[in-house]
Amino acid sequence: MNKKLVCEFENLVGRENVMAEQADRQAYSYDSAVLEPVVPALVVRPETSAQLGKTVRLCNENGLPLTVRGAGTNLSGGTIPAAPNAVVVTTNGLSGIIEINSEDMYAVVEPGVITAQFAAAVAAKGLFYPPDPGSQTVSTLGGNVAENAGGLRGLKYGVTKDYVMGIEFFDVNGELVKSGSKTVKCATGFNLSDLMVGSEGLLGVFSRIIFKLIPPPKDSRAMMAVFDSVEKASETVSAIIAEQIVPCTLEFLDNFTIRTVEDFRHAGLPTDAGALLLIEVDGHPAGVEDDAEKIRKICEQKGAGKIQRAGSAAEKDLIWQARRDALPALARLKPTTVLEDATVPRSRIPEMVKKIRDIGEKYHIDIGTFGHAGDGNLHPTILTDKRDKDEFARVEQAIDEIFEAALAMGGTLSGEHGIGLAKRKYLEGETSRGTIRYSRRLKETFDPVNILNPGKVIGD
Ligand SMILES: Cc1cc2nc3c(=O)[nH]c(=O)nc-3n(C[C@H](O)[C@H](O)[C@H](O)COP(=O)(O)OP(=O)(O)OC[C@H]3O[C@@H](n4cnc5c(N)ncnc54)[C@H](O)[C@@H]3O)c2cc1C
Repeated sequence: MNKKLVCEFENLVGRENVMAEQADRQAYSYDSAVLEPVVPALVVRPETSAQLGKTVRLCNENGLPLTVRGAGTNLSGGTIPAAPNAVVVTTNGLSGIIEINSEDMYAVVEPGVITAQFAAAVAAKGLFYPPDPGSQTVSTLGGNVAENAGGLRGLKYGVTKDYVMGIEFFDVNGELVKSGSKTVKCATGFNLSDLMVGSEGLLGVFSRIIFKLIPPPKDSRAMMAVFDSVEKASETVSAIIAEQIVPCTLEFLDNFTIRTVEDFRHAGLPTDAGALLLIEVDGHPAGVEDDAEKIRKICEQKGAGKIQRAGSAAEKDLIWQARRDALPALARLKPTTVLEDATVPRSRIPEMVKKIRDIGEKYHIDIGTFGHAGDGNLHPTILTDKRDKDEFARVEQAIDEIFEAALAMGGTLSGEHGIGLAKRKYLEGETSRGTIRYSRRLKETFDPVNILNPGKVIGD
């Protein structure tokens, strides 16, 4: 990056917030996807909304590709600054919770606020912000919105998009765009907030987000159902849904994942189980007990060997922590972890679980499967070593087949991790050539020089 330009960025955000040295930029070259790192030409850290807007404008005026980065936990390569001469704009300097309004049940935040810190601040005011991605202790709200992140509670409470009431963002010229409102209803202008949700940094740079908050559930029950086979567990998921019971959480772990997590966390998980379902219902105390009992009966009918109810809050926390540990525990086993996100209609879960196991056997690779079974959102997690070229070629074939299978079952490429760089080659398979052309025209209108996170989702 030429010195004059570096000085301009320094004048904007302060010298301490511009990283021009190779060693400093290195840390911004990768994210949580298994893709080749690309070192950005410059890293800029605005500390105010005004600085953020001017940074965007300066990039655009100088034709510099710009990749916004929250915590870099995305699993699709969304924050890899793939274009030459790219600037990474990090949002960790914009981490203010501006308002939590208990009376009108909304909050206004800056994009760099950490998800779990926000949820805790909201809980301290007696309210509830449900989206809880597994990465919530690190991920940012801006990143959650840009990926439309889900979490363990998605089945009952929905995902990030269900809580976005408004977004303020900078367009590529650095001009502030406001959309949505703090009111429950808002029909003013185009619904640009919804367009921004899941936009993966391609259409605008968020500076503020208004989130809806809800009252917390009054009661909850958690239980773990142990099955000797994957089939029985996955059929139980379909049966619970078919009974029209909506647990807030309905998670699945296969035997490989159970053993790995137990080895890591020592939470008392049954390592000889074929599969586990971790289930939580919440709401009014009377309804909760009723639902918990119905679910217990369904699990029994479907052949659960054991159903263990979490008696105390500590027992409950241990169960959920074990689920949250699934990815980090699996990731310890081999140098490379490929976490996939294939999602199918919920009734197809048993078929999809079996298909993933067959694909693993066919290509002689280790796949641990866990995920938000109640949402049909499985995370087949492939453990491999990217340096082993032969094995990695088989992994890539397996991934292709997993996505083919999900789409053939009427599913989708991504339940919550987005497309980024990692899955763009599959996009046409789920949508159409016309969809990609349309999306490119949309982007060209907002971003004629293709500055905002170029190459992602729809390619160039
Ligand atoms: C261990 C682990 C568990 C995970 N569990 C889940 C899970 O349960 N559910 C789930 O949905 N995901 C999960 N993820 C994926 C990831 O955490 C989410 O995609 C998360 O939303 C990314 O947040 P981030 O702050 O890290 O964003 P980043 O990775 O930094 O960025 C993600 C995208 O958002 C864009 N972006 C960031 N900030 C802005 C902004 N201000 N304006 C415009 N664009 C912006 C970036 O350009 C990029 O395209 C997990 C990841 C890991 C590593």
